[in-house]
Amino acid sequence: MTSPDPDGERARELDRLILHSWSKHGTTNPFTVARGEGVRLWDYDGREYLDFSSQLVNTNIGHAHPRVVEAIQRQAAELATVAPATTNLRRGEAAERILSTIDDMAAVFFTNGGADAVENAIRMARIHTGRAKVLSHYRSYHGNTGAAVNATGDHRRVGNEFSTGHVHCFGPFLYRSEFWAESEEQECERALQHARRVIEAEGPSTFAAILVESVPGTAGILVPPAGYLQGLRELADRHGIVLILDEVMAGFGRTGRWFAHQHDGVRPDLVTFAKGVNSGYVPVGGVIMAEHILDTFRERAIPGGLTYAGHPLAAASIVASIDAMREERIVEHAAHLGADILGPGLAALAERHAVIGEVRGRGCFWALDLVADRATREPVDASVVAQLKGLLMERGYVPFAADNRLHVVPPLVMGDDDARAGLAILDEAFAALS
Ligand code: PMP
Repeated sequence: MTSPDPDGERARELDRLILHSWSKHGTTNPFTVARGEGVRLWDYDGREYLDFSSQLVNTNIGHAHPRVVEAIQRQAAELATVAPATTNLRRGEAAERILSTIDDMAAVFFTNGGADAVENAIRMARIHTGRAKVLSHYRSYHGNTGAAVNATGDHRRVGNEFSTGHVHCFGPFLYRSEFWAESEEQECERALQHARRVIEAEGPSTFAAILVESVPGTAGILVPPAGYLQGLRELADRHGIVLILDEVMAGFGRTGRWFAHQHDGVRPDLVTFAKGVNSGYVPVGGVIMAEHILDTFRERAIPGGLTYAGHPLAAASIVASIDAMREERIVEHAAHLGADILGPGLAALAERHAVIGEVRGRGCFWALDLVADRATREPVDASVVAQLKGLLMERGYVPFAADNRLHVVPPLVMGDDDARAGLAILDEAFAALS
């Protein structure tokens, strides 16, 4: 270990000037991050960490990818910013690259991140249908702005109840089934029946959209059973409702396909994206739309836009990132990591440690559901998760934890040996839990 860097001290001191997201002011996070490369991070004291969080599950291509860095630098010198509706080649190329990862979509609307992508998808669905209501899952996260946070099903919507028309239902989650189901088929069938009943009770002709994450991420990496998304598609079609799939976290290779819904063969009307589209090198997000939605905006202008929509640096980073993902076969590698290393490795950990109640996920998108008792499936309390996080950090593993869960979500570019090293650290940390 190298000697402490004065920049670390200074960073901690200046931290008082920031009210951090989701934080009480004055609670300093002792973890400083000075530098990142690939799947590694270094703090100001020179300690090295393997990033098993991908930060906020967004650095799919890893840190400091030379090709993306170079594209941003070149673009900054050429044209760093330009008004939103201006024609610019880099913008067009970014849209073209995004549309090359998904079938049958016609255009892209750019935003600054995920929440405003969801805002705009909801707005598009409302304008397209002339209706207001949006059905989403209780177990979901869609962002922290007006309509997006109202669509969010968890506690984060409290205090933001000004956007009306948000209706929630339970999505499928067999391990903690709301439907007393005993198989994935039953869970799927009953969750669809429940969604259908909610829509019928509310009035089908009042719904603009069904908005769900293709794989609910923050809520616990709840890979839907086969047929669920297709069932929602049919429900939407029956009532003229727009199907919005939120792929902000699950998209761009995270699950081992470009988009998580491609595992299910379902055709959405709108898809929201952010995070993995350029791995967060420049903030960006957006909405991908099908032709029939675009038609609505041939007849009337979309009543909204953002100064930085289609930002040239974001556009350049998207082009470079998608090209690199394709040429380096990064999506295929994520599928391999899930199928051959993380999936079997985490299942083996669950055999050794009774605190792991369930392992679920695919690709580089896994959750360990931690339980105090395997028979009752009672979640562990927060102190267990806090202790586990400490044990992992001490061992140079950056974790991602939510409620009673540890999410194992490394950058998709993680090498096989690093993935195995992470599994070994997890094994040690679980063994050390008191
Ligand atoms: N949708 C989903 C599925 C997300 O996971 C997130 C962020 N975790 C968002 C939307 C919001 O994205 P952002 O934080 O970029 O606004």
